[in-house]
Amino acid sequence: MKWKQQILGMEAYKPGKPIEEVQREFGLDEVIKLASNENPFGFSPKVKAFLAQDDSHHEIYPDGYAQNLRTVVANFVGVHEEQLIFGNGSDDLIAILTRALLAPGRNTVMATPSFSQYAHNAQIEGAEIREVPLVDGNHDLDGMLAQIDDNTAIVWVCTPNNPTGGIVPAKALQAFLAKVPQDVLVVLDEAYYEYVDNEAHENTVPYLEQYPNIIILRTFSKAYGLAGFRVGYGIAHADVIAQLDPVRAPFNNTVLSHKVAAIAMGDQQFIEECRQKNKAGRAQYIAFCEQHNLHYFESETNFILFNVQADSNVVFQELMKRGFIIRSGAALGLPGYIRVTIGTEAQNAKFLEKLTEVLVAQGVFA
Ligand SMILES: *Cc1c(COP(=O)(O)O)cnc(C)c1O
Repeated sequence: MKWKQQILGMEAYKPGKPIEEVQREFGLDEVIKLASNENPFGFSPKVKAFLAQDDSHHEIYPDGYAQNLRTVVANFVGVHEEQLIFGNGSDDLIAILTRALLAPGRNTVMATPSFSQYAHNAQIEGAEIREVPLVDGNHDLDGMLAQIDDNTAIVWVCTPNNPTGGIVPAKALQAFLAKVPQDVLVVLDEAYYEYVDNEAHENTVPYLEQYPNIIILRTFSKAYGLAGFRVGYGIAHADVIAQLDPVRAPFNNTVLSHKVAAIAMGDQQFIEECRQKNKAGRAQYIAFCEQHNLHYFESETNFILFNVQADSNVVFQELMKRGFIIRSGAALGLPGYIRVTIGTEAQNAKFLEKLTEVLVAQGVFA
């Protein structure tokens, strides 16, 4: 068949092993997945109460315009309704953006390591991928600017960055935006926005007034705890949204996901509680790293990337045998490191106990 040349040999995204599979393989009663940055505290109790009594009409197509959810998000974010686009997760929005803007002969600029889907989708569209290495875990914005030319269509800024966890400080981001040509779209992927607690960080929505060439991506999958419902949203200038909308599949969310996301956004108390608990959980990991002199990256997210001074694939395997699924840095472009989703206090404590066991066995700890 006449497959696009550039997809030959491409591999599908490898999600972490499912919990049930690890349970079977290693004969474990309990397996805890700290691999995909899902919310260990679940989702809003208001969503739970709604789902228990919901009798939606699932035989009817969802509202392709997501009117109700659109109103809720527009009010919450403080933009006009025409400034929003909804995706089947922000993964869908990344695909829509690349499909709308990338093609052979064009290029796209991104940091590396960063979120894998930017390069993955760019490859499918046959665009040239220009990856600029992180410096100390941070975006090298000057290096990225130097890569932009007349054929650049999208620049990706992941803030906080997955897998390192740090933000691009507001001042640096503004200086960068001032230098990017106005016909280049800058994507600010803010999947962990709700977790950020740093004075150097600003809400980027007001930047839209000065820079009509940016789109901000946020999601209900992380802090809102609704990864299973698949809802992400993009915030941009109305003209940008109008140009993207025809590229979007007509019914890319579901009847239920629209309702659930709107309810979840209305429960900011839940988000605040998660933010606080996550911060306390992150402190457990930081204390561990400092105690054992393991290098870690400052994180503004619900995950932390740190060095285990051992083969991270082996550490990953050994942790799996002990009931924990995490991500090996080797798979993320940072061998020697592991990326761990911050769990509940009890999960973190148990995890660090198992990790200690593994690192003693590996001869890292005496
Ligand atoms: C998790 C994640 C996404 C994708 O989330 P969706 O579930 O598709 O909304 C996008 N960007 C980053 C950086 C992520 O970590």
